[in-house]
Amino acid sequence: MPNWDQSKISKATVFLAGIGALGCVVTEILVSMGIGKLVIVDFDTVELSNLNRQWLFRDEDVSRPKALAAKERLKVLNPSVDVIVFNQKIEDIPESVYSSCDLVVSSLDTFEARRWLNSMCVHEGIPLIDGGLYQFFGHVQVIIPGSDLACLECQPLIPESRLQQVCTLPGEPRRKEREETQKEVFPSVGTISAVIGGIMSQETVKLLIGLGTPIGYLFYDGLSQEFTKIDLKRRLDCFVCGERWKLDELRYFAEGDEKISELKKRLSLIYGLSDPTLIVGTKIVDDKMTITEAEISEHAPIFVIDATVAKPIRIRVVLTPDSV
Ligand SMILES: [Zn+2]
Repeated sequence: MPNWDQSKISKATVFLAGIGALGCVVTEILVSMGIGKLVIVDFDTVELSNLNRQWLFRDEDVSRPKALAAKERLKVLNPSVDVIVFNQKIEDIPESVYSSCDLVVSSLDTFEARRWLNSMCVHEGIPLIDGGLYQFFGHVQVIIPGSDLACLECQPLIPESRLQQVCTLPGEPRRKEREETQKEVFPSVGTISAVIGGIMSQETVKLLIGLGTPIGYLFYDGLSQEFTKIDLKRRLDCFVCGERWKLDELRYFAEGDEKISELKKRLSLIYGLSDPTLIVGTKIVDDKMTITEAEISEHAPIFVIDATVAKPIRIRVVLTPDSV
């Protein structure tokens, strides 16, 4: 193979978020190819209905944690690969684990978790390969922090209606309660996961060895066998990967008598947040207060914490002149 460097594969550490249909394909390929170390994170258990497309699992794995079952199977496939598993949520994994990895491969099934991981990878400067399946369709997006490729947040490919499903405005039922009543279902087939998982693995190998050009965003239609490549460019004003706000911070213009609940509602709409918490100094700001009462000013930036971002968003609230 021209320009092949196996040592770059065997020295690499890859983080895999979610071991479902795509995760099974990607890990089987990478482990067979002799990847150095694999970190698998998944808090789910194997269900009988998974077995038609999650090929690492067997009948006897039903009800067992996916991460553990996957590790056993992968170690049989290639005992020399170091496989570390976390039967936890991605948000609970120490930041040092992320920073020790060369690349993150994600096949998470909620937009919220994907956005959180995107924000973590951009913060850590780690390339992210994100893949998804829906019926006979699939997509792969490659995000390389610091390059001109878009991150998940740069281009709103998540439909507005789906964002609204995820977003909770203050006063609405809390997100967790709603999740229980509207459980998301993403039907998928093994044929499509084989194609998409194969492409994700190919992009992983390309990035690790330094071959070719990363794809950006690729959409696949399994019924027409058509691939559509979309040239998604990074947005300088993206609140996750944009350079602009790192220098100036995000600014928000408001009147001093605006209620915190109103401020949260507006920030949720602007940034697609699910249930933000605002912090000034070391205190969580009470919803019933006004901006002035909460002592928020241009000199005291607020930090917004939310399930869709790994790091707090720093916002400087600028009071409009007539309200001061
Ligand atoms: Zn971005």
